Amino acid sequence: MEIIQCPICKRTDATQKQCPEGRDSSKVHCPNCSTYEISGTAFVTQSNKSQNTRLSFAIRERTTNGKEYVKINSENYKQLTEGIDYPITIKEKAELVLKIVFKDEKAFIHGFDLNDTNRVISNIESADEMAKVIRLMDGKEWFDMTRDSKGGTLLSVIGKGKEYAGSILFPTLNSDQIFVAMSLNEELAGVYEEGIKKALDECRLTPCRIERREFNAEITSKILDGITKSRFLIADFTGHILQ
Ligand SMILES: [Zn+2]
Repeated sequence: MEIIQCPICKRTDATQKQCPEGRDSSKVHCPNCSTYEISGTAFVTQSNKSQNTRLSFAIRERTTNGKEYVKINSENYKQLTEGIDYPITIKEKAELVLKIVFKDEKAFIHGFDLNDTNRVISNIESADEMAKVIRLMDGKEWFDMTRDSKGGTLLSVIGKGKEYAGSILFPTLNSDQIFVAMSLNEELAGVYEEGIKKALDECRLTPCRIERREFNAEITSKILDGITKSRFLIADFTGHILQ
């Protein structure tokens, strides 16, 4: 394993490992882009280009969210960068920085350095855009910010930032809806009315129970929607036959 500069985002602490003989490619692990395989030709071409924010963002999205093993060659740039949900507005980019720093345990202890090579994590495409993102974050008071001599900004999440990150990462945290999954058998009506519903009423929470008995595509989407909007779910397995 060799320490290299990531050909895509230009971070200097990426590592590279040659793929087995006969394959003109290597496996790169980069803290920004995650892990990907890249052909020799694509490696050289990318190394000669400036920071490729879009491709870096696309690789990370594909690898971490889609669990896809990304192989870059000199022809598949378009294919790899299409169909990705990029943050576009300054607010979306700032929110993404907040989510990343909030979820990163190390950043909590040491702070997070939003420097030129780290800007690709949020699809921040220029120095001008970076300045706008920082200005917005500063106005929102999400971070305690300090500038270092190299032009980087060290971010530590503070009160308002923690609160806002919680609300965007766990939007149902303050929902008063609770999804109830249980058999609709009449014999269990009392369990629901006198037990579950009563307890929820006392806690000022609203049960969400799908009443219809026939299952079809429409009911499945209603169930999924109900679960997505609920803070948590109560499941009673009575009458559930294991297959
Ligand atoms: Zn990289």
